[in-house]
Order: sequence, then C-alpha cells, then structure tokens
Amino acid sequence: MSALTVTGVSKVFPPTGSEQTETRAVDDVSLHVPHGSLTAVLGPSGCGKTTLLRLIAGFLAPDSGTIAFDDRVVAGDGRPVPPQDRRVGYVPQEGALFPHLDVAGNIGFGLPRGQRDSGSRIDEMLDLVELPRAFRSRAPHELSGGQQQRVALARALAPRPTVVLLDEPFSSLDASLRESTGRAVARALRAAHATGLLVTHDQSEALSLSDQVAVLREGRLIQAGSPADVYLAPHDPELARFVGGATPLPGRAGQGVSATCALGAVTLAHPASADDLVLVIRPDQVVLDPAGVEALVDEVSFYGHDAAIRLSVGGAALVARVSGPSAPRAGDRVRIGVRGTVHAYPAPVRD
Ligand code: ADP
Ligand code: MG
Repeated sequence: MSALTVTGVSKVFPPTGSEQTETRAVDDVSLHVPHGSLTAVLGPSGCGKTTLLRLIAGFLAPDSGTIAFDDRVVAGDGRPVPPQDRRVGYVPQEGALFPHLDVAGNIGFGLPRGQRDSGSRIDEMLDLVELPRAFRSRAPHELSGGQQQRVALARALAPRPTVVLLDEPFSSLDASLRESTGRAVARALRAAHATGLLVTHDQSEALSLSDQVAVLREGRLIQAGSPADVYLAPHDPELARFVGGATPLPGRAGQGVSATCALGAVTLAHPASADDLVLVIRPDQVVLDPAGVEALVDEVSFYGHDAAIRLSVGGAALVARVSGPSAPRAGDRVRIGVRGTVHAYPAPVRD
C-alpha cells in the first residue's frame, strides 16, 4: 500500500435549485496518512467527509490542490488518474454487498478470474476479517450487519488496493456490534498493512481505532494528531466539547500557569495568552474532593460502570464522570476539584 498525501485540496459545489450560495464542501485540506496506518476523519454530518473520500477515490475532481499516493500524483496536477487506475478500496456505509452474489462472489468481485476461481485469496481474506471459511457460500442476507461489513472490508482489501477508504462503515450497527466490528476491522487493516482513512462522526470510534485523528469542520481541517493529542490538547473549545465532552468555563489568568474560575484556582497546561479566558474542563478531570468547592448535583445519568453528573457551581454548569456505584444523587451537595492541567483559550471579545 502507499502513503496518502492530500495537499491544499478544495472542492466547491455550485448552488443547486433555489440556493443562492455555493457550498465549500472541502476547503484547503492538507493531510498525510503514513504507509500502513489508519487515520480517522472525524466531524459532524455535512462537514465534507464523504466529499474528501470521493476526491481521493477519483469520483470527484478537486478545484485546487493535489492528491498523491506515495510520489504519484493522482489528482490536481496534469491529467487525473481515473478511479479504476487508482486502485482504491472503498467500504461504504451500508448495503455494500451485491445481494445476488454469495460471500465468495462478493469478496472475489475485484479479483482476476484465476484468483477468484482458486479460492485461496478468498479464504485468506475470510481469515483476515475473522470470519469462518464456511461462510463462503452464504448469501448476504444470511449474515448479521457486522458480518456484512467485514465481508465488505474483505472485498475492498482482496485486490490489494493502494489505500482503503471506509465511509462511516459501522453507523448502521447497534452499539455493541459497532464496537466489536470496529475493533475487528481495525485489526484486519493492521494485519493487511493497509493505509486507511476511516470516516466517522463518532469521537470514541475515532479515538479508539485510529493512529491519527483528523478533525473536519465545515470543510476545513481543524486539527490532525494522535488520538491522545486531539483529546488532551484540542485546538479550540468547540473541539474540546466535541471530542472530550468538555464544558467551557469563564476564567481569569493568574500568576504563572494558574487561572481562577468557579472551581477556584486551577493549573493551566500552558501559560495563558490573555487575561480573560475560556477554560475547558473534561468530565474525567472533575473529581469529588472534600477539600474542593461546593457544587449542587442537578442531574445524574447512571451507566453502571460510571455515571455522568451535571453540576452547578457558582453559576456555571459542569459535567463530571464518576464511578457508577458511588455516584451522588440529584439534589445532593458535593465538593469537587479539578485533576490535571486545564487548557485555556482567549475569551471571545464581546462588544
Ligand atoms: P459528510 O459526509 O461529512 O456528511 P458531505 O461531504 O456529504 O458531508 O457534504 C459536505 C457538504 O457538501 C454538504 O453541505 C453537502 O450538502 C454538500 N454536497 C455534497 N455533495 C454535493 C453535491 N454533489 N452537490 C452539491 N452539494 C453537495
Ligand atoms: Mg458522509
């Protein structure tokens, strides 16, 4: 497989129907996916994820910028390489399998006839996606949703593509199947040394499955980094909320790397860049602490192993993740503190 490099790529759709304005679906995006690694493209619906994949696959041409597989430019510089010559594996959202073909027929679809007939590549792919070889002759409707998505991945990987693109492949699965299928797919991609781009709007999927998370918002790349980077040092308060469920709190810069807020004094991750700040505090940073400040428990969502508690403290609202069995109840007064360092951003200027 090849490394994938996207450089300054934009795609604008003209107004359709009664619309007045064009849509800047992908806006000056640059991204490098190293050979044999998996990058999650994370963002809400409509932020340009599918458009980015279609540009890479060659179903759309960029208005500007270039796309390269290793050193080979496939779009944006000279004659574009047509989709069939890019040899991209594509796993769409759902309904991906050909209903009239059995599992072997689906997996072998893109293979040269010889390999399709010998069947060894098909068995190899079934092993890779952790499905029994006996499934070869099943019809797609005889498989669960998660098994169908694994067959779709096997089909995409069988012809040894240069890169694999997965467009929200687990979104039609229920929560538990989604997690186990996600892990199985990530294992299969690693075992195949695949260079992959996995599109998702689910932050826990992005963080848990990928080597790199690329966050898109309104067509723009907001941040690309390791899952820990994006979670622990989000680019802005909005991303902190999206990826970590963090609550923004107004604060004021203090001495050195400290600041004050409704929770008292907190330690900042970096020296403050302004006097008036927005502090973002993740639920996992808020701890019950007898020496902390008093807060009122407004609401408790009990999940079993843990619980999310919504708190009011000094006019501010905050969420804490605490152990489920020892969670307080709504209406309780508790004392809370902050664990670890806090990221601070300049407060928006008010007029
Ligand atoms: P996502 O996959 O993140 O949900 P898309 O890439 O599908 O987002 O869409 C990004 C934006 O581009 C949306 O505003 C969408 O309406 C618009 N868009 C996508 N495809 C077309 C198209 N063929 N023509 C016009 N607008 C489009
Ligand atoms: Mg999409």
